[in-house]
Amino acid sequence: YSRWARAMAIVRELEEKCATPDSKLKQVADAMTVEMHAGLASEGGSKLKMLISYVDNLPTGEEEGVYYALDLGGTNFRVLRVQLGGKNGGILNQEFMEATIPPEMMVGEADALFDYIASKLAKFINDEEQKFNPTPGKKRELGFTFSFPVMQTSINSGTLIRWTKGFSIDSMVGKDVVAELSKAMHRQGVDVHVSALVNDTIGTLAGGKFTDNNVAIAVIMGTGTNAAYIERAQSIPKWHGPLPKSGEMVINMEWGNFKSSHLPLTEYDHDLDAESLNPGEQVFEKLTSGMYLGEILRKVLLRMAEEAAFFGDEVPAKLKVPFVLRTPEMAAMHHDTTPDLRVVSSQLKEILEVSNTSLKLRRVVVELCNIIATRGARLAAAGMLGVLKKMGRDTATGGGSPERTVLAMDGGLYEHYAEYRKCLENTLSELLGEDYATNIGFKLSADGSGIGAALLAASHSIYK
Ligand code: ADP
Ligand code: MG
Repeated sequence: YSRWARAMAIVRELEEKCATPDSKLKQVADAMTVEMHAGLASEGGSKLKMLISYVDNLPTGEEEGVYYALDLGGTNFRVLRVQLGGKNGGILNQEFMEATIPPEMMVGEADALFDYIASKLAKFINDEEQKFNPTPGKKRELGFTFSFPVMQTSINSGTLIRWTKGFSIDSMVGKDVVAELSKAMHRQGVDVHVSALVNDTIGTLAGGKFTDNNVAIAVIMGTGTNAAYIERAQSIPKWHGPLPKSGEMVINMEWGNFKSSHLPLTEYDHDLDAESLNPGEQVFEKLTSGMYLGEILRKVLLRMAEEAAFFGDEVPAKLKVPFVLRTPEMAAMHHDTTPDLRVVSSQLKEILEVSNTSLKLRRVVVELCNIIATRGARLAAAGMLGVLKKMGRDTATGGGSPERTVLAMDGGLYEHYAEYRKCLENTLSELLGEDYATNIGFKLSADGSGIGAALLAASHSIYK
């Protein structure tokens, strides 16, 4: 057995284990639909939390006035102001300010974090033109995008279930996020009313729907992944509140936590999960999202280096460092169109410090990128099919032409990883069948989540 043959055996095994034939994807989609039902039936009924957002009317496009948003969900946070022109007016004016959350604040005291956010809002408001001052007797209104799992208690209140994405402030868990923000704003001397508390999927859905009325699902494919969609209120057994006038309710699925025996898991995925901060959780996210794809690639390359001397006698030391190979660099290699794969060559040199790679080896690296990205993208498409099925929008029923459905998309993975995006979109078409697929569209809604929160503040204004 030559080294090369051994390396190729590892590649072929990976390919086999990552295979996602349509038949398997349909099983995944069906499992997603089943879990959605279970999560809607009772609290804790499924790995899918299916959180009730209290958003029962999405922006219509007729909202008018000046509204603010705070968007907190990762390392950066944004303050936004949008001026809405009313019917057919659209967004007349929009301005934002971005700030980085200092890492020590992610794990420090709740008051310090919220004071920091409130102080940025205070500065933003103090610096703005007079014309944005609210009419006397009225307060400014704000939508708060807070992209962590929250148990909502109303459109503008909810308690933090747990932190994710590197945040960890124990004293906040179980507390009302809006109450904490409001107290901090008070301390910072800003008088703003929080009219809506949402997460990024809900914001993206609202932002998408504002510009395209056919938007009914929002999917985030970024560092992590999540989805939200519009559900019929009568189809939510665990909802015991009054039926909303619209008859609809937006659900934040928290689909990153989806799990099914049909998911094609490899030894690399099991290792990655075991070594993660949240073993056993976010399994779907670990197969499909930007935080993990590059890390899976690293694990495969490491095994090839160790067991088949893929990079020569020495195992590159860098290859042993968790998360050195990030998804943007994986995408750059995957997208390499130079005949001699120069990008792959330079990435391997920069990241792993291996030089003089053969073209043959570089081709294999691209193949690995393709196997891993394809599996992720196809599974994400299967998840979308599951949601469409739950909504009854996966097939033409009855007479007439079916309703058009648009998915509002946000996240760096979807936005920048073209091979991933193409594969995802093509797979969904393939699963739906060519004829019906023409009723489904994708709409990139970059930063829609912040604007969406401002729009939701408008549609849930206390002055309406
Ligand atoms: P977040 O999900 O934290 O809100 P983004 O939506 O900006 O942030 O997504 C950032 C993620 O998108 C990164 O963690 C990375 O995995 C992925 N990403 C960003 N740029 C690229 C790229 N060029 N190619 C592939 N993935 C990318
Ligand atoms: Mg984001």
